[in-house]
Amino acid sequence: MTKGNVDYHFEDFTEAEYRRLLGLVKANWELISFADYRKPGKVCLWRHDVDFSVHRAYRLAQIEAEEGIRATYFIHLHSKFYNALEDEVAERIAGIKALGHILGLHFEPQFYSASLNSRPEVLQHLRVERRIMHHIFKAEPYAFSIHDPDSVGWLNLNKDEIYGMVNAYGQYIRNHYSYCSDSNGYWRFRRLRDVLEGASDKKLHVLTHPEMWTQEPMSPRQRITRCIEGRAARQHQWYDDILARSGRENVH
Ligand SMILES: [Zn+2]
Repeated sequence: MTKGNVDYHFEDFTEAEYRRLLGLVKANWELISFADYRKPGKVCLWRHDVDFSVHRAYRLAQIEAEEGIRATYFIHLHSKFYNALEDEVAERIAGIKALGHILGLHFEPQFYSASLNSRPEVLQHLRVERRIMHHIFKAEPYAFSIHDPDSVGWLNLNKDEIYGMVNAYGQYIRNHYSYCSDSNGYWRFRRLRDVLEGASDKKLHVLTHPEMWTQEPMSPRQRITRCIEGRAARQHQWYDDILARSGRENVH
């Protein structure tokens, strides 16, 4: 789809194309976990920030498992779109882990404070959120990524590791890895297909947002609408079912 003279490549963001991209990355890089970010050689960090839909994340996790790929899923405990602690969502996060993937923490500093002066205090909450992840998912996240770092001025958090967790935007990764991201559902810089087909980047850090990848091509906003409406429909169904089960009248 072209708007003005920009091509947003809606056709890139399908499950079929995703599977093809996994084949390309597997053929050309060694996929590593964030714990091994200093590993020499041609390596790739394959990362997902789960901003909108754990259901979509679980679907991509299945495709990756079928293709023999192990990724890291950064879970957001303060999402406005899903509740990681709700049973049906938590089950899928556990399912992602059971498929062999790694759980990280998608950390939102602005939840705690809008002030950059309070950064050390805000970072204390990393430990608390890691404990929550451990308590619920029996996973000790050893990496974190900051949610929306450029708009909150957190992109310059240079430390490579904080409280034993690898910072996905730390200095080492920023300096040694080339970066490709699908933020907001289009390629702001390089197109992932070109990067993977070119296979010339020695160290590669790929960020994708699972909700941006659907069965059929859609605009980025339609992909988000799909998440919102899917969740709303499930909430209605849950409400109707519980009234039916308890023999209560469902007054419209
Ligand atoms: Zn995010």
